[in-house]
Amino acid sequence: MSTATPLSPATADFLSKRHRMLIGGEWEDAASGKTIDVFDPASENRIAVVPAGEAADINRAVAAARHAFDGGPWPRMAPSERSKLLWKLAELIEANGQKLTEVEILDNGMPLNPAGGMAVPLAAGMFRYYAGWPSKILGDTIPVDPPMSGVEVLTYTRKEPIGVVGQITPWNYPLGMAAMKLGPALAAGCTVVLKPAEQAPLSALILGELIQDAGFPPGVVNIVTGFGETAGAALTAHPDVDKVAFTGSTEVGRIILKAAAGNLKKVSLELGGKSPFIIFPDANLERAIPAAAFAAFFLQGQNCMCGSRIFAHRKIYDMVVEGVAAVAKTMKIGPGLDPANMIGPLISAEQLARVQGYVAAGPKEGATLVTGGKRLERKGYFMEPTVFANANRAMKIVREEIFGPVTAVQPFDTDDLEAIARLANDTDYGLVGSVWTRDLATAHKLAARVKAGTMGINTHGLAGINAPFGGYKQSGWGREFGKESLDLYLETKTVVAHM
Ligand code: NAP
Ligand code: MG
Repeated sequence: MSTATPLSPATADFLSKRHRMLIGGEWEDAASGKTIDVFDPASENRIAVVPAGEAADINRAVAAARHAFDGGPWPRMAPSERSKLLWKLAELIEANGQKLTEVEILDNGMPLNPAGGMAVPLAAGMFRYYAGWPSKILGDTIPVDPPMSGVEVLTYTRKEPIGVVGQITPWNYPLGMAAMKLGPALAAGCTVVLKPAEQAPLSALILGELIQDAGFPPGVVNIVTGFGETAGAALTAHPDVDKVAFTGSTEVGRIILKAAAGNLKKVSLELGGKSPFIIFPDANLERAIPAAAFAAFFLQGQNCMCGSRIFAHRKIYDMVVEGVAAVAKTMKIGPGLDPANMIGPLISAEQLARVQGYVAAGPKEGATLVTGGKRLERKGYFMEPTVFANANRAMKIVREEIFGPVTAVQPFDTDDLEAIARLANDTDYGLVGSVWTRDLATAHKLAARVKAGTMGINTHGLAGINAPFGGYKQSGWGREFGKESLDLYLETKTVVAHM
């Protein structure tokens, strides 16, 4: 493999290794011996080979997690000891930051800043945040009425770990996704089988090495690389798995719900989005316009929060269209290892073809292509950031999640906030939204009316490790981040003592 930018020795060493899966504290091949080739989407080169785990490997991993939960030390460990291991893992992530950054860029294609500036600190921050929780998982004492006079009762609740958890993550933000799944599950005392996405599994394997180095007991975290239809399906259907946490497409979310029905395992889902970005005439356009471009093109638009439905008031509509297009044209496109590049490749040839299908559909349905739309004539799955104007609610580019660097601007003429909220809510999704205005009443009224798990006021996207994140409507079930993510991994037991 060759890249223009030299890799650190630690990265070169990791990539040259034979990769295996982490099962019960051991590094294992797939029982079938099958493997999956892993590619760098910037060079189209194969950079690694990982095991193609299937049902037999999932069975071994679930057995290891079951054993670690039912008989192992993890759920019984003193809370402060669990905290120490989670904190240690955060430190190891930071100490291995360069390797994680480079591998994430090569595997996923993301630019340097989303990898080293965001994903690595997010992953370390997640484990550090959840390291604080084991000693703070509290029940209540509840003053229930005694059943008869002269009797005393003591009623209290215990928060107990749910058990063995299957976690399935997508390729678009692999390290961050693995950390946001593992942190709360481990803090709660669960044991885990993690299946990363087949297109970008490498940072999860590094995380597995760091989990081993930190000293987590065997079987607490198991990592099985493999395809969704085989390894993922086996994990979601497994009768010994108590809960599945999934991030990915709404379509696969539905398949997972059906698979989980067998033993009625608990399910949490972080799914797709089609987020509104609403700009009022009084907004600070010097901030709103670059932010709209960033919201649309961050991670090449392969981002569940992607602000791909821009609504601009008619008075400023032309300025917004021209402004977002102008920013798009200045975004340097190229391999993520070069710090000058802001737009990397799409994850695969297949994803590029999908996105180009949407770009072709836009003008056919009456949208105006303002800028972008073309694949770069070079190796790698690079595509220009693309802006459509004169879009409307009937178009595919407005209705469907594209998961590529494509945004569509729609005008609105009304000042009626109910009507504007109806435009924003005219979607099956409800993950994120944002409103851009200097008027506080407009901002807060619209924040209350848009059906989305996270609403930004003069900002778009994620709020923080300790702030809940998740979807209304078909964007998901449950909330990750913060305390609410911990609740996804806990059962509540009520204890009633009659004295
Ligand atoms: P995807 O196709 O749904 O895949 C996600 C994961 O599910 C992968 O690990 C995949 O494995 C696995 N999978 C596929 N079929 C499965 C099955 N039948 N049973 C069990 N697991 C299965 O999604 P993606 O294309 O990787 O990611 C893009 C989607 O994720 C977008 O819709 C995006 O909006 C969403 N997303 C949501 C959030 C959020 O927080 N709400 C964040 C990021 C992304 P393989 O890839 O190995 O086949
Ligand atoms: Mg890859």
